[in-house]
Amino acid sequence: AKEKGKNTFEFFSPELSGNLARRVMIENELQKGIEFEEFHLHYQPQLDLKTNRMTGLEALIRWENPRLGRVSPAEFIPVAEETGIIRRLGEWVIDRAASDMRKLMEHGHHELSVAVNISIKQFYHDSLPGFIMEVLAKHQVPASRFKIEITESVVIGHFDLVLEQLHSLKKEGIQIALDDFGTGYSSLNYLKILPIDIVKIDRSFIQDILSNPEDAAIVQAVIQIAESSSLTVIAEGVETDEQTDFLRVIGCHQGQGYTFSRPKPIEALLTELEEQYTK
Ligand code: C2E
Ligand code: CA
Ligand code: CA
Ligand code: CA
Repeated sequence: AKEKGKNTFEFFSPELSGNLARRVMIENELQKGIEFEEFHLHYQPQLDLKTNRMTGLEALIRWENPRLGRVSPAEFIPVAEETGIIRRLGEWVIDRAASDMRKLMEHGHHELSVAVNISIKQFYHDSLPGFIMEVLAKHQVPASRFKIEITESVVIGHFDLVLEQLHSLKKEGIQIALDDFGTGYSSLNYLKILPIDIVKIDRSFIQDILSNPEDAAIVQAVIQIAESSSLTVIAEGVETDEQTDFLRVIGCHQGQGYTFSRPKPIEALLTELEEQYTK
């Protein structure tokens, strides 16, 4: 009984109640975050490893709250998903990304694509494909330059609902990327049955690619399968020149990671692009 009593007490440890308090606070602050304009998007370049040219950008949400400070999406996105706030937040992301795409075009960057991360709850929207197409039309940007990134967990358990919408998106010309590939339930089968255009190999396989032959073999196998299905492979979390060289040698198409660029506000990227072209 003493032991039990102790455990019960531990359940209310300051650390745990602190976590709970923070979670509740994140939940409350998230609700107001959109109207108070606390969110912004950063963009991380994706590069063609053959030409070293930027092909596209991934939009990554950032949150700066007056009371919580900067909160990582790894912390608040799960809360937004559980509470359903992700629907409105996800709509905001799509709208902002499309308007930033317009800015890129106005600066002459018609070739760059923009990718947005989509959560499963967003597929329970009245019509995600319809919403995306409306937003793209509103900002006058082509669907062929817009990409969505989904993880396998989005598909599992919601297969019919998601598959149908992926097919409509694809019909509209939107490109679909399978994110974090190799983690979780990963099945090579998904590469065949989902209407995807791009596979993003998770950072955990790239991290030790030079020292771990198993990771290197897995990445090579994914590249081979992707090629046979005409998919583009993007390596995530590339941090060094050596990793880049290795990925290039084994035929990986594109890379994304700190070695090329950290995620940045669109204005900073536009300035950098301008400087590159005038060099
Ligand atoms: P993700 O989609 O896998 O995004 C890649 C994450 O890796 C980003 O973290 C990015 O900043 C980070 N990263 C990029 N290059 C490197 C590198 O070389 N080394 C390391 N260590 N990290 C790198 P971030 O921005 O903190 O986002 C975390 C996750 O939050 C994302 O993972 C994504 O799942 C989610 N997320 C971000 N923005 C959104 C959004 O707008 N909507 C949804 N639903 N989820 C989002
Ligand atoms: Ca992603
Ligand atoms: Ca990823
Ligand atoms: Ca991830």
